[in-house]
Amino acid sequence: MRDKALPEDEVMRILEETRAHDYNYDRFFSTMCSLPHPIAIRAHDMFLETNLGDPGLFPGVAELEERVVQMLGELLGCPGASGYVSTGGTESNIQAIRAARNEAGRKDGNIVVPASAHFSFDKIGDLLCLEVRKAELDENLRVDLSSVESLLDEKTVAMVGIAGTTEFGQVDPIEELAGMAQERGIHLHVDAAFGGFVLPFLDRKFAWDFSVPAVSSITIDPHKMGMSTIPAGGLLFRSPQCLNALETETYYLTKARQASLTGTRSGAAAASTYAVMMHLGREGFKKMVGYCMDLTDYLVAGAREIGIEPLIEPVMNVVALKVPSPGKVREELMERDWHVSMTREPNRALRLILMRHMTKENIDLFLKDLQATVIL
Ligand SMILES: *Cc1c(COP(=O)(O)O)cnc(C)c1O
Repeated sequence: MRDKALPEDEVMRILEETRAHDYNYDRFFSTMCSLPHPIAIRAHDMFLETNLGDPGLFPGVAELEERVVQMLGELLGCPGASGYVSTGGTESNIQAIRAARNEAGRKDGNIVVPASAHFSFDKIGDLLCLEVRKAELDENLRVDLSSVESLLDEKTVAMVGIAGTTEFGQVDPIEELAGMAQERGIHLHVDAAFGGFVLPFLDRKFAWDFSVPAVSSITIDPHKMGMSTIPAGGLLFRSPQCLNALETETYYLTKARQASLTGTRSGAAAASTYAVMMHLGREGFKKMVGYCMDLTDYLVAGAREIGIEPLIEPVMNVVALKVPSPGKVREELMERDWHVSMTREPNRALRLILMRHMTKENIDLFLKDLQATVIL
């Protein structure tokens, strides 16, 4: 740290200069985040210094958080759900599995997740000392049920299904997983970090949320398709006991017990999520999701015209495109300031997410560059 103070202007100049090194959202196909809705930014700023880690001091924002949990519960088929606004999908997944493990009362357990699971589950295995068993995928890139069945045993503390896989946007057969979970009395966690704000607004309907009786917990991220500011995650439990299984005593704070993973946590995310959900309503989200799906269809049609096929017919606004040497194609595209990502082996492909910041004009430009790059 410097010894002497630096005038505000000087500091701001450095910040602006450095900020200019960041790339712009309008060239991003690789991220599940997007520009927050303007009202989310306003709410975020208004609640910036509030601390939900000590809710007795900030009962106002604590109330907003409760209302967010209730709205999310309604959206996901369980108006009485318990939960909280986390920092994102990773924290929500950690906490869901931690609650399941605590409820099962085992420290030497395992969890069974699809091979398509987000890497947060590898962190979970390490943090919670659980063995992470990965079930194979079927030809549609959904988890294979017989593979899941073969991995379950008496030490399994949780099963995971994904509603909107990070790489393919695919939805696992949640009802069938729920059947297995119910039969064996295992906690079923549904990771809808991305899909949570997509699936309720699609014309095509899936059974994946709390309306499926054996679903015990759900991860849903407002900072992905929820148009909220970062860091806004959501964790919901069907039963309040599950949330209780996460609580520790806090000794010196205004509330005697705390269930969140982080201690100090800004209320800005809760306020921002509340503001967007209230302002847009289901109507507004349906429109936004419709826009993203329209972009998705447009991209896939354009890709097919230049001879490029998707790995699966897109279910949501995530597309995996089959191209020869995707790693090389990706690098070439990066040089043209297009940011795309890749899926893992054995289904290596270019991965694109069509978020609300994308436009058809930019998709046209991108497809031209993609065509030139693939021929190279
Ligand atoms: C993005 C994602 C996560 C992780 O969420 P973060 O907010 O990045 O921590 C977890 N699961 C799925 C399915 C995701 O797409």
